[in-house]
Amino acid sequence: MDQDARKGEFFKTLRTTMARLWGPPVGTCPLCNGPITEVQRAIYFTPVGGGSGRVFRGGCSACDVDFHLSLTNGVFDGWWPRAPERSELTSLVTEDELTTLSKKLGRYHHLGANWERFLARRRAGDEVRRYRSADGVGSGFAVVRGGQPISQYVVFVPL
Ligand SMILES: [Zn+2]
Repeated sequence: MDQDARKGEFFKTLRTTMARLWGPPVGTCPLCNGPITEVQRAIYFTPVGGGSGRVFRGGCSACDVDFHLSLTNGVFDGWWPRAPERSELTSLVTEDELTTLSKKLGRYHHLGANWERFLARRRAGDEVRRYRSADGVGSGFAVVRGGQPISQYVVFVPL
C-alpha cells in the first residue's frame, strides 16, 4: 500500500469513527436549504446482509417537515423526508373529504390527535393526496408541497 492509499484509508476510518461517536452530519432541508435541527437517535435496525444500522430523526423548523437519516455499517445516506415517493401518490383529497375524515378519526383519541397534527403541517397551497406504497403494503395520506410529498399519515384500516 503506498502512502496516498494509506492516508486515504486512515481518513476513511477516521470519518467512520467520528460518525459513530458524534452522530450524523449536519443536514440541509431540500425545500428551503435551511439547517435540519433537533437531531435525535431513533431506532436500531439490522441491514440486509448483516452489520448494524441506526436511524436518526431531525426536522426543519422553517418548513415544519420531519427528516430521517440512516447510518448503515458506519455509512450515512442522505436525509429524506418522512413521506411517500412522488410516484406513490394517487388521488387528490378534497376539503369536503378531509372534513369527513376528521369527523371519523376524531372519534378515536390517538388516531384523531395524529390526524390533526398531520393536517396542521399544511401551509397555503399544499395538497393532501392519497398514496399507496410501491410494495403495496402501506397506504394513507400525504401532504404535498410543490409536488414534493413532505409528510404522511399511515392508515391500517380502510377509511
Ligand atoms: Zn426547510
